[in-house]
Amino acid sequence: MRYSALRILKEGLTGNKGWKPVWREPQPKAAYDYIIVGGGGHGLATAYYLAKEYKQANIAVLEKGWIGGGNVGRNTTIVRSNYILPENNPFYEMSMKLWENLEQDFNYNAMMSQRGILNLFHSDSQRDAAARRGNAMILTDSDAELLDREGVRKLCPFLDFENERFPITGGLYHPRGGTARHDAVAWGFARGADMRGVDIIQNCEVTGFQIENGVCTGVETSKGNIKAKKVGVCVAGSSSRVMATAGMRLPIETHVLQAFVTEGLKPVIPGVVTFGAGHLYISQSDKGGLVFGGDIDKYNTYAQRGNLPVIEHVAEDIMAMMPMLGRARLLRSWGGVMDMSMDGSPFIDKTHIEGLYFNGGWCYGGFKATPASGICYAHLMAKDEPHPNAAAFRLDRFRHGNIIDEKGVGPQPNMH
Ligand SMILES: Cc1cc2nc3c(=O)[nH]c(=O)nc-3n(C[C@H](O)[C@H](O)[C@H](O)COP(=O)(O)OP(=O)(O)OC[C@H]3O[C@@H](n4cnc5c(N)ncnc54)[C@H](O)[C@@H]3O)c2cc1C
Repeated sequence: MRYSALRILKEGLTGNKGWKPVWREPQPKAAYDYIIVGGGGHGLATAYYLAKEYKQANIAVLEKGWIGGGNVGRNTTIVRSNYILPENNPFYEMSMKLWENLEQDFNYNAMMSQRGILNLFHSDSQRDAAARRGNAMILTDSDAELLDREGVRKLCPFLDFENERFPITGGLYHPRGGTARHDAVAWGFARGADMRGVDIIQNCEVTGFQIENGVCTGVETSKGNIKAKKVGVCVAGSSSRVMATAGMRLPIETHVLQAFVTEGLKPVIPGVVTFGAGHLYISQSDKGGLVFGGDIDKYNTYAQRGNLPVIEHVAEDIMAMMPMLGRARLLRSWGGVMDMSMDGSPFIDKTHIEGLYFNGGWCYGGFKATPASGICYAHLMAKDEPHPNAAAFRLDRFRHGNIIDEKGVGPQPNMH
């Protein structure tokens, strides 16, 4: 069923009785051509583009929980194309262009809102780094404006410009960046994939792989064994656990990242603002809640809940940047498990096991990558060769010294 203004009118006039479930609830078949393990944003996008762009059929997505229950429905919804390294810019700019047309493409309202991202800086050296990043963005088709203090004041007059300890000296503004409603992105991809015949099977945990003579021929699941010609794993924070069942050890650690939301307030923050003297990113949802987050909790865990020190940290950053929010009440907080790689960059690659592919290592920036990751992973699985914009995201890059360290902090997953 296509959604349109006419359809809304028709349903409104006929008691809203014609709406269909957004996707079917099929039973798994005995065999598929493609199995995608993990029904998060990346897995669903992969299935969607496999069917839509690469004209493949007989595809299943196996999800151990429910659609939208993983990080795709837990993130702080920020999408941006503001990378500096040549391995990253074309990929994230491709993703941004896909975001810009995504709702028309999958015919679903994902509330994509290019409300701008402002990265504050507080010193001359930070200004130099921001100028360098901005130049790299402009050179690779993205957009950036270097603002001085007055430029920032015009955009966000509510920031604390009197803070002596962390004086705001300017900001790097990325007008095309913004937010998209995270769970709607999952639902949109799920619906688009289902409409093209993809079986989305929830409550189906993959517990192992069937590997014969170095070739993956299927998966073992909580709903029985399923044969497949090609299996693509896409399970974010569970990557190390799932790939261990195929005998693989990954350059990935799992950490928890928390997010927070306040009670609903009248419009106060126009776009996304990040603090340059700590780690805080904050925006306002359409419902009025301030949505924010900071660093990971910095210890390894698979638990989807975090601890108090991070709450203290982000609250302190908010008070340094916007003391007026000191009286806002925190409504909810939650955590998601992050697949932190050694250099902070992802993997979209074949494995040494024929027919088994791996997508992961998105750290805590994978939401914005969802469409490009889906299309590049679909390309790899359909054609057995990497998409040109994701060719650097290889599993063996550490062996060859081709690390992609966007932050420049070295081989420490918890620092990326
Ligand atoms: C609090 C928080 C804030 C974030 N903020 C941002 C942000 O603002 N911008 C941004 O770009 N990124 C952000 N991220 C990161 C982003 O959400 C993730 O990188 C991205 O969602 C990961 O890809 P995914 O959507 O496929 O993951 P998920 O949605 O986690 O999908 C993986 C799926 O695999 C399933 N699975 C696991 N094991 C199995 C199994 N054995 N069998 C079957 N299924 C299995 C899981 O249940 C899960 O549904 C944030 C993350 C968190 C947690």
